[in-house]
Amino acid sequence: MGQLDLLWEYQNLDLALDKYDKMRKNSPLRNKLIELKNYLVQQQEHLMKLNEEAEKKNHILNRINHEYEDILKAFKSDFDKVEGGQVRSVKQLEEMQKAAVELKKKLAKKEEEIKGLLNDIQALSGKLEEIRVCMVKAKKEYSDTKAEYDSEVAKIQKEYQEVKEQRSELRNKLDPELIKRYNRLKKSRGTAIVMVEQSCCGGCNMSLAALVIERLKKGDDIIECENCGRILYWANKTDADAKSAV
Ligand SMILES: [Zn+2]
Repeated sequence: MGQLDLLWEYQNLDLALDKYDKMRKNSPLRNKLIELKNYLVQQQEHLMKLNEEAEKKNHILNRINHEYEDILKAFKSDFDKVEGGQVRSVKQLEEMQKAAVELKKKLAKKEEEIKGLLNDIQALSGKLEEIRVCMVKAKKEYSDTKAEYDSEVAKIQKEYQEVKEQRSELRNKLDPELIKRYNRLKKSRGTAIVMVEQSCCGGCNMSLAALVIERLKKGDDIIECENCGRILYWANKTDADAKSAV
């Protein structure tokens, strides 16, 4: 086998490996995993935000509870004075009654605020619970999908390794300079070596000069297509001759 025959084989294996990579990247399971992961990250952020909000509300609730207690104390101490007979004049009593009405109003207002906050906190904790349940479900789905994906990959991986070994065996037989050239072309053109078909380059379809065909027929020279730069491969000489003669 000449160098070009080997290189042609090498490219076939290389393209097969590309196909495996593509399969792995385009796997529906992999896409599902990415989606689930994004969802989980998003929900986690949402969860943290709601948690923060709930904490703030709890903080406010504490403060208002203290204020409520203070007002209640003031109210009670006035009440005790009246009960204990410490209030002597009618005027003082009237003033205290007025103050009591004000304190009651304040207490009612604080009670409203507390009720509102409690409702908010309850709604928040409901939402938090909802998110947590969804996240647990998504996490389970993620780990199930991951297991499925891993076994899919393992299956591909076995074949992939076999092809890769064949390729590296071939690489040892090829001229390192030729491999370098091959890699450059493969990177820029997708394929580096192309079959000549009916006197045309199999890569870009440009018809090749008679002189090029002559040189290809003779053999071992490495000839590139003048148009696309790919290495031309003259595989089956008799067949190609027959074709080019038509
Ligand atoms: Zn070409």
